[in-house]
Amino acid sequence: MSDGIPRGRDGHVLNPLWVWSPETIEDIQSKAELGRYTNRGLGMTKRPPHFEDLTFVPCTLSRVPLEGYREACATSIEIGGRHGAKPVRLSTPVTIAGMSYGALSRNAKQALGMAATRVGISTTTGDGGMLDLEREASDQLVYQVLPSRYGFNPHHLRMANAAEIVVGQGAKPGTGGVLLGAKVSPIIAEARTLPPGVDQRSPVRHPDFVGPDDMQIKIEELREATDGQIPIYVKIGACRVPDDVKLACKAGADVIVIDGMEGGTGASPDSLMNHTGIPTMAATVEAVAALREMKLEGVVNLIVSGGIRNGVDAAKALALGADAVSIGTAAMIALNCNRPIYVEDYEKLGTVPGACHHCHTGLCPVGITTQDEDLIARLPSDEAADRVEGFLNSMTQELQMFARACGKNAVHDLEPEDLRSMTIEASAITGIPLVGTTFAFRPESFAQAVAEAMAAATANGHKAPQGAPQ
Ligand code: SF4
Repeated sequence: MSDGIPRGRDGHVLNPLWVWSPETIEDIQSKAELGRYTNRGLGMTKRPPHFEDLTFVPCTLSRVPLEGYREACATSIEIGGRHGAKPVRLSTPVTIAGMSYGALSRNAKQALGMAATRVGISTTTGDGGMLDLEREASDQLVYQVLPSRYGFNPHHLRMANAAEIVVGQGAKPGTGGVLLGAKVSPIIAEARTLPPGVDQRSPVRHPDFVGPDDMQIKIEELREATDGQIPIYVKIGACRVPDDVKLACKAGADVIVIDGMEGGTGASPDSLMNHTGIPTMAATVEAVAALREMKLEGVVNLIVSGGIRNGVDAAKALALGADAVSIGTAAMIALNCNRPIYVEDYEKLGTVPGACHHCHTGLCPVGITTQDEDLIARLPSDEAADRVEGFLNSMTQELQMFARACGKNAVHDLEPEDLRSMTIEASAITGIPLVGTTFAFRPESFAQAVAEAMAAATANGHKAPQGAPQ
C-alpha cells in the first residue's frame, strides 16, 4: 500500500496510540540522542483559541456600510502621550515587533526599517542593541531595554523615538532568550561584548529591578535620561494579564505591549512555545478589561502581538479594544521566510519551504536569520523592503475594508458588537455572543440566566428548588 497509512502484514490499519504517538516517539528518541531538550525557531505548533474563531457581522438592513472606494476610513493613531512625551505616530495601527540584530541579519533589520518608514509606522530594536543601518532606515524606532543589556547604549536610548522595557515575550514568558553559537559571528559578538561562536543565553530578570516598585524607578530613570521626550512602553508575555497590566500602569507605562503565546522567537525550547502563556485573543480581552477598570483605556495605549497574520486579525484585535497590533513573524514571512527558493538549502536543513522553523541554526536559506555573508546576500534590503511595504499596505486595506463593511469611518471605531463568536470557547473567552444566539458563554451570563429562570418559575407559581439563587 502506498497511501501512507501504517498497516500490518495482512493489510489491516495499525492505529497509533494517542499518548505514544509517532511524534511523541520521535521526540523522545531525538532527546535521547541529543541528551537535552530540543530548541527551534518560529512559534507554537498546536492550535490555540484564536482570532480565527471570531467572525465579523457587517452592515445589512439594520446598519449602513460605507462605500469602499469613495468614503474615507481613518487608520492613524498617536500612541504614548500619557506623560507628555512626543507620541509615536502610526499611519496605520501596526508596528514591527522587536527582533534582535543577531537573530536577524543586518539586511533584514534594515529592510524592516525601510518598509516601516515608507508606510509611516515604527519598528523596534531587540536583544543586541541598535544597529546604525536600522536607525538610519527607520523614521520611528523603538529601543528595547532588555534584561540582557546586550548592546545597551544610553546614547542609542537618546536617539530612539520610544523605549520599551521588555519584561517577557509571548513565545517563552518567564525565560530568557537563546542565541545559538552558530549565529554569534565576530560582529554580533562585538555588538554584545560576548565571545564569538558560543551559545548565548540571555538572562530573564533585569539586573536593576525585579518587581513593579523597582520598575517605577526604572521608568523614571528612562524618562530622566531622555528628558521626558519619548514614550515608555512595557512589553509583557501574556500570563497573568490583569495583574500585570495594572502594575505596569501604576508604574507609569505610557504604552503596554502584550505578547500572546502565538508569538514567534529566533530560538526557544520547543516545549516552552507550546506550553507557556495564554493566547493573544484572550490576553487582549483581559488587558482591555484591566485598563477599563483603572479608567485608563485610551490613556495608556495597548498594543497586542503574537500570531497576528493579516489585517483581519488586526481588525478583530482592534474591535476587542487594542489600539494597535505588532507583527514579527508575519513581517519575516513578507521578507521571504519560507519562500520556495533555494529549496536545496531547506533540504540540507532537513525541511522544506512552508514547514521551516530552523532560524536557530544560523543557516536560513533566504538570508533573514543568519550572519553568513553569502546567505545575507540573498536578501537585498531594497527588494525585501518592497515586499514588507506591500504586506503592510495590504493590512491597512483589510482593516479599512472590515471597518467600512461595519459602517465605521475609522478603524478604531470597530467594537465587540461588530463580532460574533464561532465557537463556545471563543464566546467564553471574549464575552461575544455565539453565532445564532444572543448568549455569551460567560460565568456571569450563566448566573444571570439561572436567576431569570428562577424568577420566571417563581412568578408562575413554582417553588424555587432549595439552595437556588433567590
Ligand atoms: S526560512 Fe529562514 S527565517 Fe524562515 S523559518 Fe526558515 S530559517 Fe527561519
